[in-house]
Amino acid sequence: MLQCTGFAAVPEMGALVVLIAMNAEAGPTTEVPDLDDMLLCELGEHDGATEHAAQLWAGEMDAARDLWMFWIDAGADVSPDPDPDPDADPDPGPGPDADNRVRRTFRFVELPPCLAVMRTLATGEREACLLFDRHPAPHSWDVTDPLADLMAERMREEIRRERGGEPPT
Ligand SMILES: [Zn+2]
Ligand SMILES: [Zn+2]
Repeated sequence: MLQCTGFAAVPEMGALVVLIAMNAEAGPTTEVPDLDDMLLCELGEHDGATEHAAQLWAGEMDAARDLWMFWIDAGADVSPDPDPDPDADPDPGPGPDADNRVRRTFRFVELPPCLAVMRTLATGEREACLLFDRHPAPHSWDVTDPLADLMAERMREEIRRERGGEPPT
């Protein structure tokens, strides 16, 4: 299962929510989160009817709950209108080049973490799911991040090339 490739810039509202949450925890180090940070959806690939989800600055908060940002693009090819009514909608319908007109809605929720833990019997290693309680899509250990994998592969190739290309002196 590949990771969802959805991403979103943190809206101003999101920064406010984080500040309020941090104040509620009375953390001694209150950092103002950066606006326009890009967050990647952390779920496995999912359909358009499922919200994207990314964890917001959880580091300073109570570990019992994490703050998550959910977003969904209304007007994406989620639910094609079966009966378009030209009188009701003065705008031309969303065409193939209407991507920047897609309405994106955000919501911010504090959620307990998913309690699932995968144990590899052979090694005895335990890996906790990094997602939130009752998340859609598979647990985080079943999700591979193709971008991160690609970067790792590039680095390995570079190291191989450096080692193979330069004769030992
Ligand atoms: Zn997603
Ligand atoms: Zn999980």
